[in-house]
Amino acid sequence: MIREEKNGLVYYQFESFDPNLVNHAFYTRLGGVSEGPYSQLNLGGTNGDKPEHVRANHLKLFENFGMPFESRFDVWQVHGDTIHFSDTPRPETQKHQPGDGIFTRNPDVTLIMRFADCVPIMFHDPVKKVVGLVHAGWQGTLLEVGLVAVEAAVEKYGCNPSDMQVGIGPSICGHCYQIGSDVKVKFFKKWGDKTSDFIASTPQGDFLDLWAANEWILRKAGVQHLEQAHLCTAENLHEWYSYRKEKGLTGRFAAAISLTPKEKHE
Ligand SMILES: [Zn+2]
Repeated sequence: MIREEKNGLVYYQFESFDPNLVNHAFYTRLGGVSEGPYSQLNLGGTNGDKPEHVRANHLKLFENFGMPFESRFDVWQVHGDTIHFSDTPRPETQKHQPGDGIFTRNPDVTLIMRFADCVPIMFHDPVKKVVGLVHAGWQGTLLEVGLVAVEAAVEKYGCNPSDMQVGIGPSICGHCYQIGSDVKVKFFKKWGDKTSDFIASTPQGDFLDLWAANEWILRKAGVQHLEQAHLCTAENLHEWYSYRKEKGLTGRFAAAISLTPKEKHE
């Protein structure tokens, strides 16, 4: 990934995404106004941080991203596999719809999601001119939400998975993500022997590799162009929030993506 710094905010970008066609960023926690465990650029509105700080951080982020705050489309992330297609922003007065995948074809819409260990997956189809964003924790991974999202984009927009540029963003790595036996059993029930490619059983416990599992899921969906960030949230608390490492008392960082303005495409 490429690390950038602009107006006090620090963000990362995939090297494989064409900046002429798509704007995207994973914003680190650096440069916002939140304090204490939420320090600094917390975008989560339901974790105990002051609402005025969260709003100020959103405004700061959008200014940095180069899109109006009013372009925002986001959902209430619920660890499911519901995918939304929206060619209009979500007005601030309108409630979030529950969902864990969002896509748009409109360059005036900015897709944004919040993370602290769960896996962010970004999509860009340069042929159909579509962008997407998916949230996959262990539950979403078990539901294969990445595959559900690709299939939904094929159905809705006629995308070809092999045209898609896909990126797996900063999230908790397979060495840091310990799971309970209940979770392990669920994966073995669904994937059988394949599960042992993604869950390592050690004397210290069972560890789930969400990066590898989601890459496998996306490849099954027909994705060929895929970049892994290889950035672990739990090991880099100076830049990322980690729900696990910080024992639930933390903020959420943002992933944002939009198509570049129409005139740049032509
Ligand atoms: Zn790690």
